[in-house]
Amino acid sequence: MYRVKELFYTLQGEGARTGRVAVFCRFSGCNLWSGRERDRATAACDFCDTDFVGTDGLGGGRFATADELADAILGTWKGGAAAPYVVFTGGEPLLQLDEALVAACKKRGFEVAVETNGTIEPPDGIDWITVSPKPRSELRLKTGQELKLVFPQEVTPESVAGLDFPLFFLQPLDGPDRQRNTELAIAYCREHPRWQLSVQTHKILGIP
Ligand code: SF4
Repeated sequence: MYRVKELFYTLQGEGARTGRVAVFCRFSGCNLWSGRERDRATAACDFCDTDFVGTDGLGGGRFATADELADAILGTWKGGAAAPYVVFTGGEPLLQLDEALVAACKKRGFEVAVETNGTIEPPDGIDWITVSPKPRSELRLKTGQELKLVFPQEVTPESVAGLDFPLFFLQPLDGPDRQRNTELAIAYCREHPRWQLSVQTHKILGIP
């Protein structure tokens, strides 16, 4: 049984693949926060900006098998002949994404990406792994295609810069201090050119 908060066709808003069309499959649940405001202050990850509770979002629901969910993902793709692309996110997608679902998506022609907090080992077969380290948690996944760090936060760029990723992105922490955090991120990237700025284009531009 897979629990999906929402399933929708959009443009990737962050990181190296910004602007690319994709089906986003947002799984319910995370291992670093319950998703409920009353628990935020005591959560390991306390700056989350995503609603991942339940299965009541657009295209969300419970899917009994990998094939059933992969069919729903295929049905959500509107990119025609372009290479089909699915991004599994959350919540923490690696609580649910397994080899069977990766294989079912690939069988339907999809390139498979995941955006994870890096605390859980991924199944085989994923094409693009984005790791976004979070505070007060053990980072177990230390390699992938891009590392995207929300900044500033307890996890510092210096503490993860030695990991095995070809791309490093610094993404300003959203919220009332977004402008200030953006300025800090820009200043850090200017001083440390290995890091590239990632902005949440879907929020800034209102991409649905
Ligand atoms: S790890 Fe990600 S999904 Fe989980 S609470 Fe933090 S930001 Fe939200």
